[in-house]
Amino acid sequence: MFKIEKIKNEKFDEFYERAMKELDEFFERDWIMNRTKIVFVPDRKTYNSIRDKETDGWEIAFACNDSIYLLDPEAYEKDADGHIYSDERFFMLIKHELTHSFWNLFHYSHTPVWLSEGLALYLAGQYKTRTCPEKFVNFLDFYGEYGKFVYNESGFVVKILVEEFGKENVLELLKGLGSIKSEDQFYDLFERVYGFRISYDEMNKLMREGK
Ligand SMILES: [Zn+2]
Repeated sequence: MFKIEKIKNEKFDEFYERAMKELDEFFERDWIMNRTKIVFVPDRKTYNSIRDKETDGWEIAFACNDSIYLLDPEAYEKDADGHIYSDERFFMLIKHELTHSFWNLFHYSHTPVWLSEGLALYLAGQYKTRTCPEKFVNFLDFYGEYGKFVYNESGFVVKILVEEFGKENVLELLKGLGSIKSEDQFYDLFERVYGFRISYDEMNKLMREGK
């Protein structure tokens, strides 16, 4: 059991509203009713209890149903390996998790983890805080499987997909995802939208061409 209470924080409220506005624009929505709630979790122990498992120190947020849970920045020093609070990073974190909320509006059941995480990294701008890989070598491994390394390449893959082929193609891909039942069906859908089958070779070629 958990006990929560309503809090008011003008700065975080502003981060939330700004992120929601930017995501409304990207996803072409006007989300007003039943918006995502943000829940601050006071420490790692409570975080683990909500997750029902031991979590790694690098993990500080997750999205679940209509809420996102964030480890309270005040607990970073004690409970979050390597995370240092800054307003910019915290805004990006909120926007990242809210991207997953928008993603969930599409009611997906069988969809690539790399696309979900890549979109969240790209839209939140978090890819800018990471080093671009020289070559894409493993993002496709994260289809049904989630792992720490999904963050290394996926944001840069989505960056190419959005900036070189336009937002419309990404939205078309997202709309098609609802009917996907297998990984192969996803690759077919991708090919219909983009005109090529996604692979390391194709994505590396686009990256090399400065795309
Ligand atoms: Zn994520």
